[in-house]
Amino acid sequence: MSRTQIKKPAKTQKNNKSKKFVYAFGKVTDGNTTMRELLGGKGANLAEMASIGLPVPPGFTISTEVCTYYYDHEQRYPMALRQTVADSIKSVEKQLDKKFGGRKNPLLVSVRSGARDSMPGMMDTILNLGLNDETVEGLADVSKNPQFAWDCYRRFIQMYGGVVMGVTARTEEEEDPFHVLLEKLKHKVGAESDNDLTTANLQTLVTQYKALIRKRARGAFPQDVMQQLWGAVSAVFGSWRNERAILYRQEYGIPAEWGTAVNVQAMVFGNAGDDSATGVAFTRDPANGEKVFYGEYLINAQGEDVVAGLRTPNSISQLAKEMPKSFKDLEKVRSKLEKHFKDMQDFEFTIEKNKLFILQTRNGKRTGLAAVRIAVEMQKERLMNVETALLKIPAESIDSLLVPVFDPKALKAATVIATGLPAGPGGATGRIAFTAAQAEKATREGKKVVLCRTETSPDDLKGMLHSQGILTSRGGVSSHAALVARQLGKVCVCGASGIKINYEKKTLTTGKTVLNEGDYISIDGTTGAIYKGMIASTDSEVKRVLDGGLKPSKSYTFELFQTVMKWADIHRTMNIRTNADTPNMASQAVAFGAEGIGLCRTEHMFFEGDRIDYMRQMILAVDEVQRRSALKKLLPFQKKDFVGIFKAMNGRPVTIRLLDPPLHEFLPSDDVVRRQLAERLDVPLDYVIDRIKSLHEENPMLGCRGCRLGILYPEITEMQSRAIFEATAQVLKGKKKIKVKPEIMIPLVGFREELADQLAIVHRVAKEVMKKHKVRINYLVGTMIEVPRAAITADEIAKEADFFSFGTNDLTQTALGLSRDDMGLFYDEYQSKEIYNKNPFSSIDQRGVGKLMEFAVERGRSTKPDIKLGICGEHAGDPKSIDFCHRVGLDYVSCSPPRVPIARLAAAQAKLRNS
Ligand code: PEP
Ligand code: MG
Repeated sequence: MSRTQIKKPAKTQKNNKSKKFVYAFGKVTDGNTTMRELLGGKGANLAEMASIGLPVPPGFTISTEVCTYYYDHEQRYPMALRQTVADSIKSVEKQLDKKFGGRKNPLLVSVRSGARDSMPGMMDTILNLGLNDETVEGLADVSKNPQFAWDCYRRFIQMYGGVVMGVTARTEEEEDPFHVLLEKLKHKVGAESDNDLTTANLQTLVTQYKALIRKRARGAFPQDVMQQLWGAVSAVFGSWRNERAILYRQEYGIPAEWGTAVNVQAMVFGNAGDDSATGVAFTRDPANGEKVFYGEYLINAQGEDVVAGLRTPNSISQLAKEMPKSFKDLEKVRSKLEKHFKDMQDFEFTIEKNKLFILQTRNGKRTGLAAVRIAVEMQKERLMNVETALLKIPAESIDSLLVPVFDPKALKAATVIATGLPAGPGGATGRIAFTAAQAEKATREGKKVVLCRTETSPDDLKGMLHSQGILTSRGGVSSHAALVARQLGKVCVCGASGIKINYEKKTLTTGKTVLNEGDYISIDGTTGAIYKGMIASTDSEVKRVLDGGLKPSKSYTFELFQTVMKWADIHRTMNIRTNADTPNMASQAVAFGAEGIGLCRTEHMFFEGDRIDYMRQMILAVDEVQRRSALKKLLPFQKKDFVGIFKAMNGRPVTIRLLDPPLHEFLPSDDVVRRQLAERLDVPLDYVIDRIKSLHEENPMLGCRGCRLGILYPEITEMQSRAIFEATAQVLKGKKKIKVKPEIMIPLVGFREELADQLAIVHRVAKEVMKKHKVRINYLVGTMIEVPRAAITADEIAKEADFFSFGTNDLTQTALGLSRDDMGLFYDEYQSKEIYNKNPFSSIDQRGVGKLMEFAVERGRSTKPDIKLGICGEHAGDPKSIDFCHRVGLDYVSCSPPRVPIARLAAAQAKLRNS
C-alpha cells in the first residue's frame, strides 16, 4: 500500500467517540500555551499567539493523542477524525474566503509536526499542500503571478515526493534527486538563482518532477487534495518514529510515548514577489545570549529556503533598510513575544505583500553560555524571578562555560583559510570528515573529527554527535547545522561560502588550499574563523579565574557563572561532593564548589610511577610475609597522599574507600611488561607468569574484589587504615589547624558480617594510632551499597554503618546483570529499539535500580534514622539522576570535579521542581 493511501478507520472506537482530537486556532481558538502535552509546543503556542492578537494564519492542530492512537492501532485513525478534519478545513476556508482544492482562490496549507518539546528538523513538514494541475492555475490567476504559482507547485511536489512518497537521495554522497533536476535546468537556461526561472521553466520542472516520482515511487503524485492532506498527516505522524527522531529523543531523554501533534495551517507566501519575504528570528542572540535582535531572512522565498540553508540569507538588521515598515512591525512582535512568553523566543515570520504573519514561536534553543546569560539578564529585567531563571538553564549547559578555547598564542601562529558565520561558540580541532558515517568511524578509532558538509540535514545528527565541531559552506545561523550544533553544545561555523566541498573527491578547497579527508582543520565558533591544521586549546575564562590566572572583574562570563552558582547554592538542599583521588583533583573540585570528597578510590593512587610495581608485588605475593613487605612500601605513599588530600580539602569531609581493584586492571597481560615487572621485582619471569595464571578469574568484576580482598588479606585493610589515621594525626597536629574527620568506606559489601569483619580491623588500628600519637580522632565507617543484597538487607547493614554511599556503577551492573565493560555489542540495538531510554550506566534506571535505592534508603533509615546517605557512582553527575537522588532523600551526591557546577545547579533545580 502506498503511503498516501488512507487506511480504513479502526473499529474499536468506544472510548473515543466523545474525545476531542482537533483544536482550532484563528478567529476561534480552542487551545492555549498550557496545553503542550496535547497540542505539542507548536500547536499550543499558535493558539496562544492567536489569542493575544498576533497575526497568525488560521488552522488547526490534530492532538498528540491521535499519534498515540495511530501507533496503538496499526497506523489507523479514530473514526470521527476524518469528518472533524474536513469540518476544520471548512472553517479555515470560511475565515479566508478560499476553497481547499478550488479552482478559484484556492486554499493552500502547511502540515507540520509539533512535539511537546521541540525537536527541530527531526520530523517532517509539508508546505503548499492543496496544489494540483488545476489549483495551480487558480493560484496564478488570483495572485496575477503565474511564476509564483508554479514555483509553489514545484516546491510542493518536491517536498511531497521526498517526505510522503520517499523519493530522496539514496546514499550520503548522492544529492537530492529533485535538487539535481532543478540545478540541471538552471544550468541549461542560465538561471543564477531559483527566482530567475520563468513560468515555462517551472512548468517543465513540474513535469520532470512528476516523471521522477512515477519512476521512483509506486504511484503517481496525487491530484486529490484530501488524499494529499492525509498522506502528509500520516507522514508527519510516521516521522515520530524515524531514525533521527529516535536518536534525538535518546539524546534529550524524550519518551517515545509522548507522540507528536500535527499542525495544519493556511499558507501565507513569502515568495509572492519582491514585497514578500520569509525569515527566522530570535528575540536575543542564541549563540552568546546578548540582548540584540538576531535572525535572518530572504526576500521572495519560502521558509524552508532559510532553514535548509540553500541560499545564504541576510541578517535581520538589513530588513530595516529593505522593508522599514515590516521591520517595525517585527520589532513590536519581538517585544510582545518576550513579554508574553517570558523567555527568549525563536519565531518564524512571513511577509506577504508587505503584511506580516507569525507562523510559529517557541522558546529558542541556545548555547550553554546563552542560556546562562539570558536567564541572568532576564531576571535583572524582572521578566522572571530567580527560581524560574534557575529552572531555565539546562544544568548540562554550565559545561560550555568551562570548556577550553583556542590558546591565544597558538592562534596567532595559525593561518586563517576562510571565515563563516559563528554559530556555536568555542574552539574545535580535528580531522576532516565529509560524511556522518566517516565521522562516526573515525571517532570510534579514537580520532577527533570536524564534520565538514556543504549543508547538514537531520540525517547528519549521528555524525554531529561524534564530532568536535561542524563546518558548513552553505546556510545561515538558523540553518539545521547551526540549530542542532548549538543545542548539542558543539562548536559550529556555518555558511562559509569561501570553501568548496567536493564529496566525490573528498576535498575541501579554499583559494589555493586543498585539504583532504583526514587532514586537520580548526574552527572557531565564536569568531567564525577557519584555520588549517591543529590548534592547541586553553582553559575557559571561568576556569582561568578559578585557577587565579584572571581577575574575576575582567570576565563577564565568570560573573554570570558566579551568579548562577550563588543562586543554586541558596536553593539546593543536597550537598555536592566530588570523586577525587589526588590533592590536585581535590583542589580543582573545591574551586568548582565541591563541599567534600564522596569517593577517594585508593586503588587509583597506585597508578603512578613505581607505585604500580609495589601494588603488583603485593597482589602477586604468595604469603603474608611477602604481602606485608610490599604493603610496607605502599604505606608511606598512601599516608603522604592522604595528608595532601586532607590539606587540600581544608576541613571538608573526605570519604576514603578501601582497596577495590578488579585484579585484571592491575596485572599485566603483555609479555614485555611482564618481563619488565619480573626484572624490577627481581623474581624469575616464570614466577610472575605462574602467579598471574593462578590469580586468573573468569569474571574479575564479580571475583576477588572489594571487601573480599580485605577479608582474605586483613593486612591490606590494616595498612590502609593505618595510613589514613597516621595522616589524620599528622594533619591534626600540624602547625596550621585543619580539622580532619575521615570517613572510611568498605566496598562491595553484601552481608552485614562482611562489614563487621572489616570494621573490627579499622577500629583496632584507630585505637593504636590514637594511643601512639596521643590524639583523639573523630571518624566514621560506612559502606557502599552496590550489590542488590546490600540494598535488600540495608536494615541489617545499617546496624554496623555510619553511612551508605550508593555505588550505582556496580549496582547497575549487578542489578541488570549487565557488565559495565561489555555492553558495546548490543547497546546500539537496544537504543534504536528504545528498550533503554538512556544508557543505564549514565542515568539511573529509576524503575529498576532506583527501586533498590529507595528500598535501601527506607530500610537503612528504619534502623538508623540519621544515617548519612550519598551516591558516588557516575550517575551522580547526571541531572536526571540528581533529581531522583533528591526525591529519594539522599544527603549528598558525589561526582567528578568538572561536573560539580552542573551538580550544584541540578540539585537546586531538583529542589525547586519537587517543592
Ligand atoms: C560504583 O560502583 O558505583 C563505584 C563508585 O565504585 P567503582 O566505580 O569504583 O566500582
Ligand atoms: Mg563499585
